[in-house]
Amino acid sequence: MNSMDFAGIGMTSQRTRERLIKRLKEQGISNQKVLDVIRLTPRHLFIDEALAHRAYEDTALPIGFSQTLSQPYIVARMTEILLSAGPLRRVLEIGTGSGYQSTILSQLVDTVFSVERIEPLLKKAQERFQTFGLNNIYTSLSDGSFGWNNNAPFDGIISTAAPQAIPEQLLRQLAPNGILVIPVGNGVSQSLSVIKRVGHSNEYDEDIVEKVKFVPLLTGVSH
Ligand code: SAH
Repeated sequence: MNSMDFAGIGMTSQRTRERLIKRLKEQGISNQKVLDVIRLTPRHLFIDEALAHRAYEDTALPIGFSQTLSQPYIVARMTEILLSAGPLRRVLEIGTGSGYQSTILSQLVDTVFSVERIEPLLKKAQERFQTFGLNNIYTSLSDGSFGWNNNAPFDGIISTAAPQAIPEQLLRQLAPNGILVIPVGNGVSQSLSVIKRVGHSNEYDEDIVEKVKFVPLLTGVSH
């Protein structure tokens, strides 16, 4: 767990941040730790300066390469669901993107492993982690459909890109009672799936939570 010191960064847009938190609560986000971390994390530093004034709106924002930083509501919801499995030590994120979701997670779990397939996005995210002194995030340029076997098992896995079907490898890399939160579907219709491994068994319980819209999980890496 990492406690971020944003003192030097300054609490810009205090009022708009509070408004966002209020909106997230109205939409049913109730985990106070998650709300606190979102309130304190400078989302405006994860997007292009030209868009910074929209950082605390509850909306997805472009981060280049046809990718998007998810809407705060969905970041909050997925994080809250992940944490519902109990205290998490090791979490794998698929799709580092801007690094915002990893930064949120790094303040709530012991260690974050995050994989991204687009090299320039990953480089930028790594710079942000360094600037913020987040030393519990490990990253890799790779295709997340295969998880990150060398660092498995994970207590939690979160995917921020949507496959058409759940990759087998991700299930296999879950620790006993581990939880996988993942959007599944095509470009037209996707649902957020929550899968829990039952104890040490190879049985998994699945719940479909809500309709979502994510960028697709693509194969291979791009330099
Ligand atoms: N969590 C990110 C969201 C970025 S959008 C954030 O907070 O900003 C989803 C990301 O998933 C994109 O950056 C995209 O390049 C990445 N992605 C898509 N398919 C992938 C794959 N197979 N392996 C790793 N990353 C992938």
